[in-house]
Amino acid sequence: MSSVHIRDVRKSFGNFEVLHGVTIPIEDGQFVVLVGPSGCGKSTLLRMLAGLENITSGTISIGERVVNNVQPKERDIAMVFQNYALYPHMTVADNMGFSLKLRSAGSDEINKRVKRAAEILALTPLLDRYPRQLSGGQRQRVAMGRAIVRDPQVFLFDEPLSNLDAKLRVAMRTEIKELHQRLKTTTVYVTHDQIEAMTMADKIVVMHDGIVEQMGTPLELYDKPENQFVAGFIGSPA
Ligand code: ADP
Ligand code: MG
Repeated sequence: MSSVHIRDVRKSFGNFEVLHGVTIPIEDGQFVVLVGPSGCGKSTLLRMLAGLENITSGTISIGERVVNNVQPKERDIAMVFQNYALYPHMTVADNMGFSLKLRSAGSDEINKRVKRAAEILALTPLLDRYPRQLSGGQRQRVAMGRAIVRDPQVFLFDEPLSNLDAKLRVAMRTEIKELHQRLKTTTVYVTHDQIEAMTMADKIVVMHDGIVEQMGTPLELYDKPENQFVAGFIGSPA
């Protein structure tokens, strides 16, 4: 676990500035949800946390360490994407162990970690299956398994549920929250779905056009929205 500090971060693509100075403090173990309409800069910010995108100005720290110039592989972060393509020719166990293999872990260590992650995610009976033999929810759990085997300091989720049907989405919300309660890993979770934000977050960050409109607990945002945008966004149906 680790705190994360995003301080006055700006991002431009060419002459086009998409993030206009974003500051977000995240405490150790917190589950923070970044929410906002499509195109407001959520994925860009998450990609910068993961080290997949350069920071134009400002700083990002993980714990005490400024990571602006730290390569993705050197950051103790694991990311779950919306299109969590599993490797079709690998078993569930191999899918989950692959990132450890890339980091040159030994096979005993890999087996131990995969086994533990499988227990946490109720995937133990499925370890020898291939992705095509799994349901949508099981595949999603394997994608999370790939992240948790590394026991990272920080989890990043980018709209991980948006390709699932409504019923499964609700079930997976609960699973992800339970996972967080168990592991207590600092989490930054991106969604454009305000219901997801309200039900999952310790702290919600409402973004709009490259700025933070407001942050607070779900109750604070619901009771005391600071402006029309937040009031409309939080109050409107998904
Ligand atoms: P969100 O995840 O909130 O939907 P994004 O972070 O994906 O938003 O995008 C924010 C803005 O940055 C959008 O206008 C998008 O078109 C632009 N953008 C994202 N990535 C790039 C890129 N690699 N090059 C140019 N513009 C980009
Ligand atoms: Mg996005």
